[in-house]
Amino acid sequence: MNKNIGSTLDSEQFPHFQARFHTLLKYTNNLVICLTPDLCITEFNNIAEQIYGWRKQDVLNRNFVELCLSSGFAKPIPFDITRTLSKQDSINYESTILQPGDKKHFIRWSITPLVNENQKLNGLIMVGHDLTALKQAQNTLHYLDGIIKYAPNLIYWKDRHSVHLGCNDRFAEFAGLPSREFIVGKTDYDFAWASQADSYRSDDREVIESGDPKTNIEDLMPKANGELAVVISNKVPLRDLDGNIIGILGSATDITKRKKEERVLFEAKEEAELANQAKSNFLATMSHELRTPMNAIMGMAQVIKNEDLPESQAELIDIIFQAGKNLLTLIEDILDFAQLEVGKLKINVTSFDLHALIREATTSIQHQIDPATTKLELNFDSNKSLELRSDPTRIRQIIINLLGNAIKFTKEGYIKIKITHDKPSVPNACVYITVEDTGIGIPKDKLNQIFERFTQVESAYTRKFEGAGLGLAICKQLVTNMGGAIHAESVLGKGSCFCVTLPLDITEKKIEQNELASQN
Ligand code: ADP
Repeated sequence: MNKNIGSTLDSEQFPHFQARFHTLLKYTNNLVICLTPDLCITEFNNIAEQIYGWRKQDVLNRNFVELCLSSGFAKPIPFDITRTLSKQDSINYESTILQPGDKKHFIRWSITPLVNENQKLNGLIMVGHDLTALKQAQNTLHYLDGIIKYAPNLIYWKDRHSVHLGCNDRFAEFAGLPSREFIVGKTDYDFAWASQADSYRSDDREVIESGDPKTNIEDLMPKANGELAVVISNKVPLRDLDGNIIGILGSATDITKRKKEERVLFEAKEEAELANQAKSNFLATMSHELRTPMNAIMGMAQVIKNEDLPESQAELIDIIFQAGKNLLTLIEDILDFAQLEVGKLKINVTSFDLHALIREATTSIQHQIDPATTKLELNFDSNKSLELRSDPTRIRQIIINLLGNAIKFTKEGYIKIKITHDKPSVPNACVYITVEDTGIGIPKDKLNQIFERFTQVESAYTRKFEGAGLGLAICKQLVTNMGGAIHAESVLGKGSCFCVTLPLDITEKKIEQNELASQN
């Protein structure tokens, strides 16, 4: 539009002009508003209707400026338009239109005067170009540029042929490039990291061909100071608006320090494990060596005990004998635990009758119970024998340990041993051994800890009961190696119940797996 269009029309051309003008109004993406010299609306196209939210028929012949102000819009023409126009052909300026709901439109206006052949002002055409989308895109680009610029990662982007298109400051600084722009148009073969270029390029190709991101790629990259850094990279495909892959965007993090720390930690762990192994080996050997003389002492004490001794000496021998027994138990526990730690304590699988084994183990320890205060009950779910394929020695050890604890911590009431089992035909059939007592009980918060080595509910200083806190740790390890589980339930002051679950039939392969797992 220029002023000649309005000024040179003769009456014959006019209908043609009007038709074209209305087509233009209808299909243009711009706002078009025609005004009389005193700013009354004579034309208001559909885009103007959308943005102002008015219908053309409601605004025709009304004063545009007054209409805007009365509807809460800012003054649309921020100066005295008729005076300004007399000095120049057309005027450009930008203004914003705030729609109800706070949607803001940025409009670049161009106001052109229409004059007749006598150069008299006939009207004005306001053409508004909506810049909102452009401004938003500019803002987004500005934010993105900020993110890329200040991101702590090394960011770079390349085209489909692995030619660099750009990188952030951090990348340029890390790689010792004179500027961000220096990278543009070059490939990885042109830089100090050329020796890695084949591998970088193959990752780029994979991302471009698959369209999928490639993450956690560990690469080596020389730094500005010549040191070789370990970086972890993620590469994602870059797509145009139609979804076509036009390149890749890479982001890398320098993990050199973390890698070094990991190596130090790994070496320290290896060293600690070796030291622990050495300690366990020492303990295993020492306890073995201690057991032999202890057995001799116990044997001799037993011989003297059988002699007809005066009462005072018999009491002393009893004390020696009891203390020796306790010491031997402790040595045996330490030996077992040390052997379990180094994986030397083997599980020997054989078939046996579990009911018979439990009867025998109970009988061997029964004398420690005072029948006047505490009742011992055996409860089997059938009177028949119960065939099990497992390690009878280790199961006996577990039962003796649980029973020994029940006796130690129960002053009165009962101790019940209960055996139930799944049908052998059931897949993964198990046997369940529970040892229940009415003893002192265990606080809830200690229930899991008691299976840790050297853990006792009572502190070492206030302890009334003997023991080293190893028994349950050994039981747990043995049960686990036999493919089973152990847990405890208890009510403080009322009693405890320990439940052992074991497979009815354990294969040698399963034992090997469990032993390996417990060593790791
Ligand atoms: P300890 O040789 O000291 O008894 P254990 O590992 O066998 O070591 O047991 C650890 C701790 O668990 C015990 O010191 C005791 O505090 C608690 N405990 C174990 N069994 C019972 C039980 N039947 N009743 C009460 N407390 C128990």
